[in-house]
Amino acid sequence: IKKLAVLTSGGDSPGMNAAVRAVVRTCAFMEIECMAIYRGYEGMIEGDFVPFNARSVNNIINKGGTILKSARCEEFRTPEGRQKAYDQLKAAGIDCFVVIGGDGSFRGASIFYKEFGIPVIGIPGTIDNDIFGTQFTLGFDTALNTVVEAIDKIRDTASSHSRLFFVEVMGRDVGHIALNAGVAAGAEETLIPEQNLGLERLLDSLKRSKKSGKSSSIVVVAEGDKTGKNVFELKEYVEKNLPIYDVRVSVLGHIQRGGSPTAFDRVLASRMGVKAVESLLEGKANLMVGIVANEMVLTPIDDAVKGHTKIDRELIRVSDIMTI
Ligand code: ATP
Repeated sequence: IKKLAVLTSGGDSPGMNAAVRAVVRTCAFMEIECMAIYRGYEGMIEGDFVPFNARSVNNIINKGGTILKSARCEEFRTPEGRQKAYDQLKAAGIDCFVVIGGDGSFRGASIFYKEFGIPVIGIPGTIDNDIFGTQFTLGFDTALNTVVEAIDKIRDTASSHSRLFFVEVMGRDVGHIALNAGVAAGAEETLIPEQNLGLERLLDSLKRSKKSGKSSSIVVVAEGDKTGKNVFELKEYVEKNLPIYDVRVSVLGHIQRGGSPTAFDRVLASRMGVKAVESLLEGKANLMVGIVANEMVLTPIDDAVKGHTKIDRELIRVSDIMTI
């Protein structure tokens, strides 16, 4: 392998820049050429390549988003689009690449690998933590800290006015952000897709908490929760069935996707970047780098996109105990 490329694809997440930096610096260390591909698969199809050296990635480890830009690219879903991408990589002499992104980006990479045999290693970059084969995805820890900080602020106003707040957080179909944020910010209840306890239990718990002397409450709601009601409908439901609370809603939204990555995400990105490049140099392909029990591990991309890392049942129990 003489020339390796790196791209970021799909939704951005904090830590992607730190991972780009790690890939580029590892290439420099191993004395192989490194190309940055801008705008994800769109840039691959258009040949938007720029040679990077160790100094090209100065001062980006602390930056949110991705300096390489990201894109959703419909053309890459077609055989013609992927053929164009292959032609561009060949013309530029690129032997293999690292893709930093989510499950969609990995599905594309795997199809591309099977069609053209260009070795690829994936680095999971998404705040949702919804990829199998790693306990943590890049950006999850930063998003979690952003959410906890936001809930702390909401609690200040909630307690001043004796209010109940429903706080909706991201996470798509999984409740990792919600569960962890609920525990870390001391929420009264946490509604996650993995465990639907029903609306009755929510009312009971809110009643109990009011009775026990709490003047304000925070309920963290994962965007994918299975109550069948969104946060605004939950507000109406509680107002109707439990008129003792002044209820408000806060949808945290895209602030969860931005910001400077935490130390944890920067370290994780650095480790994943090194592992990705080393794996390609060892002749490995179509794998995703992950972290399990603080060890770097590789999982076939086809397995990684099939499932989710399971929610931590022990943490659900801890959460239940803490909300007494
Ligand atoms: P996020 O988790 O933030 O959504 P993602 O990587 O899952 O990130 P997607 O938009 O699903 O984001 O995928 C990114 C890109 O990967 C798509 O725009 C497309 O170019 C490519 N891609 C996704 N699925 C496929 C597929 N089945 N075949 C070929 N390419 C795909």
